[in-house]
Amino acid sequence: MIKKVDHIGIAVQSLEAALPFYTDVLQLELKGIEEVESEGVKVAFLQVGETKIELLEPLNEESPIAKYIEKRGEGIHHIALGTDSIEERIEEIKAKGIKMINEKAKTGAGGAKVAFMHPKSTGRVLYELCEKKGERE
Ligand code: ZN
Repeated sequence: MIKKVDHIGIAVQSLEAALPFYTDVLQLELKGIEEVESEGVKVAFLQVGETKIELLEPLNEESPIAKYIEKRGEGIHHIALGTDSIEERIEEIKAKGIKMINEKAKTGAGGAKVAFMHPKSTGRVLYELCEKKGERE
């Protein structure tokens, strides 16, 4: 089942420039910074209750985040729904006619299994399914 909004992904030009708002003004806890080479991004996670904010900085021009910022500017990029049994969720969602960007889960930040739905199928919202390792509530 889908259980919660795991995190909200926000595209930023620079983590260094964006972080002080979150850590100093909002005083959110910085959980960690990690490079996800496969996605061409450097991510920072900030805890907000049981949800997180994921800041995404492009590592290179080829990064989907670089392309996103070029087209639309910085801002909200995706909403991640925390789920268990991600493979089953993907099959269920596909069976209901929703197009997936990732037909198979891939490894994202923090070793989570993730898969994105196609925004054309979801009213133009980029939704990520995300299953955390060892987080079975
Ligand atoms: Zn995400």
